[in-house]
Amino acid sequence: MIDVLVAGGGPAGLATAIHAALAGMETVVVEPRPGPIDKACGEGLMPTGAAALADLGVAAPEGRPFLGIRYVYGRHRVQAEFRNGPGLGVRRTALHAALAARARDLGVRVVPGRVAEVRTAGEAVHARLTAGELRARWLVAADGLHSPIRARLGLDLPSRGPRRYGLRRHYRVAPWTDFVEVHWAPGGEAYVTPVADDLVGVAVLSGERRPYDEHLARFPALLARLDGPPVTPVRGAGPLRQRVRRRVAGRVLLVGDAAGYVDALTGEGITLALLSARALVGCLRAGRPEDYETAWRRLSWRSRLLTAALVRARGHPPAARLIVPAARRLPAVFRAAVRTLA
Ligand SMILES: Cc1cc2nc3c(=O)[nH]c(=O)nc-3n(C[C@H](O)[C@H](O)[C@H](O)COP(=O)(O)OP(=O)(O)OC[C@H]3O[C@@H](n4cnc5c(N)ncnc54)[C@H](O)[C@@H]3O)c2cc1C
Repeated sequence: MIDVLVAGGGPAGLATAIHAALAGMETVVVEPRPGPIDKACGEGLMPTGAAALADLGVAAPEGRPFLGIRYVYGRHRVQAEFRNGPGLGVRRTALHAALAARARDLGVRVVPGRVAEVRTAGEAVHARLTAGELRARWLVAADGLHSPIRARLGLDLPSRGPRRYGLRRHYRVAPWTDFVEVHWAPGGEAYVTPVADDLVGVAVLSGERRPYDEHLARFPALLARLDGPPVTPVRGAGPLRQRVRRRVAGRVLLVGDAAGYVDALTGEGITLALLSARALVGCLRAGRPEDYETAWRRLSWRSRLLTAALVRARGHPPAARLIVPAARRLPAVFRAAVRTLA
């Protein structure tokens, strides 16, 4: 019997597998897609996330450090630098390759396929895969935003608030800033992350489902900067908000986006995935898996609260128009919010 079976080989699943392997547990990851895996993402790893990656012993993936966050709305702009070192703009493919290499070096086995069904019997979880079956002491569902395992276990809660979606694409352009820029417009945000010396990623977030170029047309000042060609296809994800009943169900534990998600607007999803992977394995090692729920709540509540408040304000046009001007007038508050998310 395996110690830890991880369903999903994204950042959350691979980080869980690395922590478990470092703790001496026999670990298998099941993932349907061949690497290096790409995904719709703003690709800004917050400083705490970059540090968590180094703590895992993961070789620093190629990317571009960023110093903080800048909000732009018409002629209004406000920025705040991180206090504890830079974040990292990093292509998902590079991040995946670095995590996968570390997992492989630690002896983690990656099995191609999907976990199709989960059944607990006594001290074991039986997972039926696309081909075959595996038995483990613990199953970690790291199967993403719309986690099929979470749904099958009845852990989904009905979503509240506006449904929002994200789309992203990359442009062959030299970055014009060392900040991640969030451009605001009525109806959506564009989130610009420098990921290499000649490449920026542009993610658009909105409650409206339209083609990527229509979203981008709302940001003429940003469009003028994107004078190089798009070099990746458009990728999308959503609805973003996912509410979850609980994160521990017997021998199954949820991590990463599968554990619940608010919105991409504040860009700390990967960081939370890495931190909760560490907390989860800590609870397994201590023989107290039930403590993971509290640990997850403790490490994520600030960012969940801030993100939900921002998305709520964003949903009311008069309030939305005031977000960037207000942040400019109250720089200490903006700085504190950015540093909390960092
Ligand atoms: C538009 C957008 C912008 C974002 N910007 C940022 C940002 O700038 N910074 C940041 O930190 N975060 C950002 N995020 C959030 C970030 O992308 C996620 O938080 C992160 O990918 C979560 O990782 P994960 O491993 O939980 O899920 P995923 O990366 O989605 O990985 C889940 C994996 O599970 C696999 N899987 C699915 N079903 C099964 C199954 N049945 N069995 C086995 N495997 C399965 C999938 O193939 C996939 O590889 C953004 C998200 C979006 C949508």
